[in-house]
Amino acid sequence: ILARGRDVCRRNGLLILSVLSVTVGCLLGFFLRTRHLSPQEISYFQFPGELLMRMLKMLILPLVVSSLMSGLASLDAKTSSRLGILTVAYYLWTTFVAVIVGIVMVSIIHPGRAAQKETTEHSGKPIMSSADPLLDLIRNMFPANLVEATFKQYRTKTTPVVKSPKVAPEEAPPRRMLIYGVQEENGSRVQNFALDLTPPPEVIYKSEPGTSDGMNVLGIVIFSATMGIMLGRMGDSGAPLVSFCQCLNESVMKIVAVAVWYFPFGIVFLIAGKILEMDNPTTVGKKLGFYAATVVCGLVVHGLFILPLLYFFITKKNPIVFIRGILQALLIALATSSSSATLPITFKCLLENNHIDRRIARFVLPVGATINMDGTALYEAVAAIFIAQVNNYELDFGQIITISITATAASIGAAGIPQAGLVTMVIVLTSVGLPTDDITLIIAVDWALDRFRTMINVLGDALAAGIMAHVCRKDFAQDTGTEKLLPCET
Ligand code: ASP
Repeated sequence: ILARGRDVCRRNGLLILSVLSVTVGCLLGFFLRTRHLSPQEISYFQFPGELLMRMLKMLILPLVVSSLMSGLASLDAKTSSRLGILTVAYYLWTTFVAVIVGIVMVSIIHPGRAAQKETTEHSGKPIMSSADPLLDLIRNMFPANLVEATFKQYRTKTTPVVKSPKVAPEEAPPRRMLIYGVQEENGSRVQNFALDLTPPPEVIYKSEPGTSDGMNVLGIVIFSATMGIMLGRMGDSGAPLVSFCQCLNESVMKIVAVAVWYFPFGIVFLIAGKILEMDNPTTVGKKLGFYAATVVCGLVVHGLFILPLLYFFITKKNPIVFIRGILQALLIALATSSSSATLPITFKCLLENNHIDRRIARFVLPVGATINMDGTALYEAVAAIFIAQVNNYELDFGQIITISITATAASIGAAGIPQAGLVTMVIVLTSVGLPTDDITLIIAVDWALDRFRTMINVLGDALAAGIMAHVCRKDFAQDTGTEKLLPCET
C-alpha cells in the first residue's frame, strides 16, 4: 500500500500540491482577515501571487503565436478548414446552450426578488450604445499595429459633455424662477419656495474610439491563424518559419514544465491576498447571495452535466477521466481568473495527461481561450436578467432572445483576463434598454464568480479539444503533414 501511495504521489505530486495550496490559501486568507492588515501590508503579501500572474502572462504571446502558426501550417487545406469550421461551430453552439442554462436558472430562482429596489426608476441612463462594444470587437480582430496589439486593445471611451449655449453671457436667456409663499390664517408669511425653471444644461455622452491596456489576444489569434494557413500553402518555402514556430512552441512548453513548480506557492498568496481584499461577506451575502448562487448553480449544471455528457455522447469515453487530466489547469483558472493565463497549463495537461494530438490542441486551445467562454456567457445572461428583476423590469420573449444573442456575442468579445465579462456586459444591458451603471450592483461578488466562470471557460476549451480529436481522428490519421519532418518535434 505504501509503495502504491508513493507512486500516486509521484505521478500526481503537482496536482496534490495545487489542491493543498488552494486550501492553505483560503485558510490563510480568512485567518489574516482577523489581523486587519493595512493595504500596504496586503500588497506586499500579494507579491508572490503577482509573480505567478506575471510568469503566466509572459508565456501567452509566444505560446499563442507559435501554436497557431505551427499548428495550422502543418495541416493540409482540407483538414485545417474542416477543423476550423467544426471547432467554431461547436464553440458557438455550446456558448448558446450555456446562455440558455443561465436564463432558465435565473428565471426559476428569481434572485432579483431579494435585492429589489424600492423605486422602479433606473439608477442611471445607458451611456454607451451597444454598437460601440461590437465595433470594438471587430476593430480588435484587425489590429492596425501588431506590436501595439501585444499590449493594447481597442476600447471606445465614453465621456460626458455638458452642452452649453454658444452665446455671450449678456445675451443668455434670463433665469426663470417661480417663487411663491404660504400664508397662515392670521396673515403672516411662514414659508417661501423658489423653483428654478431654467432648463439644466444638457449632458450628452460622446464616444470616441480609443485604446486600453491589455493584450489584444483576438487580433493576435486572427493574424497568427491566417499566417499559419498561408505558411501551410507555401509548402517547402514556408518550412523554415514553420520550423522556427515549432521550436518556439516546444521551448515555451519546456519553460512551462519548470515554472509549474512555482505555481502551488504562488497560488497560496494569490488566493489569500484576494480574500484579504474582499468586502465583508455577510453584508454582501444578504443582498447578492441568491444571485451568486444562481450563477454557481448554472455553472455547475453546464460544467458538470451538460458538457461532460456531450463529451460522452460524442466520444463514448469517460468524461471523468478526461476532467481528472485537466484538474491542474482548472485550479490555475480558479487562482488566476484568467483563461489566457491558464493556457500554458491547459496545453501541458492535454498533451501529457490526455494525450491529445498536439496539432489539434495548437488550434483549438488558443482560439477557445479567446472566443469560447461558456461560463462568461452564462453569467452575462444571469446578470442582465438579475438587473432587470432588481429594477422590476418585465422582459418580454423578444428581449430574452436578444439577451441570449448578445450574451453570446459579449462572451466572444471578452478577453481571457480577470473580470473582462463585466466590461462587455454593457452590450447585453444596452441591447434591452437596461441601465448600464447598475453593473455596480454586482461588482462586490464578481471577483469570486469570475474564478468559477473562468474554470468553466477552461473546461469548455479542453473538452472541445477532446471532442475535436475524436471527430477529426480520421483526417489526422491520414494527414501527417510537415509535422513529422521537422527535427524539433519530439
Ligand atoms: N475571467 C474570464 C476568463 O479569463 C473572463 C470573464 O468572464 O471575465 O475567462
